[in-house]
Amino acid sequence: MNYTIAKISLLDYIVVSFLKIGSMSTAVLRGASTLLTVSKIICVGRNYAAHAQEMKADLPEQPVLFLKPPSAIVQDGESVVLPPISTDLHHEVEMTVLIGRGGRHIEARSVLSHVAGYGVGLDMTLRDVQSEAKRKGLPWSLAKGFDTSAPLSVFAPADRIPDPHALEVGLRVNGALRQRGNTSAFIFRLDRLISYISDYFTLEPGDVIFTGTPEGVSRTVPGDILEAWMGTPGGSPATTLTVRIESA
Ligand code: MG
Repeated sequence: MNYTIAKISLLDYIVVSFLKIGSMSTAVLRGASTLLTVSKIICVGRNYAAHAQEMKADLPEQPVLFLKPPSAIVQDGESVVLPPISTDLHHEVEMTVLIGRGGRHIEARSVLSHVAGYGVGLDMTLRDVQSEAKRKGLPWSLAKGFDTSAPLSVFAPADRIPDPHALEVGLRVNGALRQRGNTSAFIFRLDRLISYISDYFTLEPGDVIFTGTPEGVSRTVPGDILEAWMGTPGGSPATTLTVRIESA
């Protein structure tokens, strides 16, 4: 009996160690036996009209895309570390898509067959650094792609999500509701979005897409606990994500 317990503990230890070592640059699909390597994270800016409004930005005619490096990933339960170059870290809760089957020039009608799962992520943003970059016409890489800027939940398998355009995403900070939106309000739905992305970036299995944030983005500070969820409104969440904010 003791031997069995010891064996289970050792196995847990190995699995946890593996997850910790593998937490950077990997995605976890519920029910899958291995971690997926993420080769790129493609993010969509301004995919909800109300968020574009709060940022005083025009509605885009084409999707606005930017990238985060896979090294920015943190997993559920880990921390976001605020780098010393910023004093204005913002949360952006977003529905995330995990690509299961790669491709380029993917036709709109076959987009969903390339999706392995759906999750919730936080597009952590150094808003002061981003505002300065916008003012000077410089790239957003630092503001959006710094280490720990891409917390990812475990992904729910796509076959468990009946309609990806009827999902609530939400965020509580220290227990208080900050953001709540529904993917039915997307400006660019997944067929248009993933087809457009694949015209310019070859999609590979393990790639992750951040689909844009609803309104309610705001400042978060070291010590805050962020709890995000995604799922059918009124039901229990399909997946959740909890991170803590720390200073460097
Ligand atoms: Mg965003």
